[in-house]
Amino acid sequence: MDLMYTSTRNAGEEATASQAILKGLAQNGGLFVPKWIPKLDIDLDDLARMTYQETAYAVMSRFLTDFTEEELKTCIKNAYDGKFDTEKIAPMVRAGDAWYLELFHGPTIAFKDMALSILPHLLITAAKKNQVKNEIVILTATSGDTGKAALAGFADVPGTKIIVFYPKHGVSPIQEKQMVTQKGDNTFVVGIRGNFDQAQSGVKKMFSDPNLAKELDAAGYQFSSANSINIGRLVPQIVYYVYAYARLYADGEIKKGEKINVVVPTGNFGNILAAFYAKNMGLPIEKLICASNENKVLCDFFSTGTYDKNREFILTASPSMDILISSNLERLIYNIAGNDAGQNTEYMESLSREGKYAITPEMKAGLSDFYGNYATEEEAAQCIRALYRETGYVIDTHTAVAAAVYGKYRKEVKDTGVQAVIASTASPFKFTRSVMDAVDKETYQDMTDFELVDELSRIAGVAVPQAIEDIRSAEVLHDTVCEPDEMESVVRKILC
Ligand SMILES: *Cc1c(COP(=O)(O)O)cnc(C)c1O
Repeated sequence: MDLMYTSTRNAGEEATASQAILKGLAQNGGLFVPKWIPKLDIDLDDLARMTYQETAYAVMSRFLTDFTEEELKTCIKNAYDGKFDTEKIAPMVRAGDAWYLELFHGPTIAFKDMALSILPHLLITAAKKNQVKNEIVILTATSGDTGKAALAGFADVPGTKIIVFYPKHGVSPIQEKQMVTQKGDNTFVVGIRGNFDQAQSGVKKMFSDPNLAKELDAAGYQFSSANSINIGRLVPQIVYYVYAYARLYADGEIKKGEKINVVVPTGNFGNILAAFYAKNMGLPIEKLICASNENKVLCDFFSTGTYDKNREFILTASPSMDILISSNLERLIYNIAGNDAGQNTEYMESLSREGKYAITPEMKAGLSDFYGNYATEEEAAQCIRALYRETGYVIDTHTAVAAAVYGKYRKEVKDTGVQAVIASTASPFKFTRSVMDAVDKETYQDMTDFELVDELSRIAGVAVPQAIEDIRSAEVLHDTVCEPDEMESVVRKILC
């Protein structure tokens, strides 16, 4: 029997996995969720012997049940290949008091590659399965890393176009350079004079505009999403938590069934939701530690039960977490409301009307798997500096937020016996300036970005990643900039 997907806002809507991936977003702004979370019914000793690709099949086949074995294995093979600079795909490094699960060994050196290197293959396969004739237009808002990873994944994929919107002044110089130098005739990159939330709202609006959909259909196009609201991004992200657990077991670091803590630097709530799904599949996870930067709307939500985005939007050194509307939280809200689409819809309408909602005490009790906290800019920088001085290991600014929050958790909870895996979401080379400032601002402040790259390579003893070498001399190919309310007209211009 196929695992079906339904909408967080309409219990009557149903889709197979491939249909949910194709649509990206459910009809009235809802998100697709599986009707139940499948169990990981595989012995840990078997998992411990699996490669990353085999683990990916074991996990993903339980969610994407309308893909044939051959289809799914082909997607996995094409995704997790030589594009990654290590055969392990997601290696773990021990530093200080935690394990760092390095999710940045893909083509764009951030964790978005873990899902976006497979999404194009899933999408193309899904289009074939569902006899889609239209060309698929990937419409994406990015806080910096999704955009490049999606561009790299979809560039020159036949039957697709990709349009990426990013906040013109809200991403790192290297992130921007990576995007505006993207090759491929089917790629379009647009800066908006606004922040990520505005980019994301603009994209969501286009997705739910039936007139625009009709017009596009007439022109032979249909939208799909590469944002983390697409279930085709969420499912591949469950894999590395299972893989990390199996590796710890295989290496004798934990006993069978021993619980671990997972710490995730969070923005749109996709990565940590994948860990929540992994836990619900049966993976022994004790706490899901949700780390925010100074945009600490989630941290406040976990402590008060009220989600309130009415606050100042702060630009931080961890831009991929500068988010006040964490889209994937809706899937958790739906889950703790007892899969009640009606109740969830009320909350989401309140969020768009008043910018906030408050969950019931019963629902708040359902959040006990989570611990939420945040790190200030100074605390995160301090964490980079201290870890480097003590161990020689250099982490990026996002991972540092997680490491700093984990430090707070350890102080508060003192369960020192439980091993922690910190999701290391970006290479420090992607945020070189902020990372080197944290290590030693005095010494490095006068160096250029690329001098800093070489210096980072020297002090960390890590080779400069290919993704950085590639943009040293690359030509700018995209220079469109628009206001947030012009996004739709830019899309029309590109397509019609
Ligand atoms: C996207 C991103 C995050 C946030 O992940 P979510 O799934 O949106 O919570 C954290 N760190 C980096 C480097 C990212 O690119």
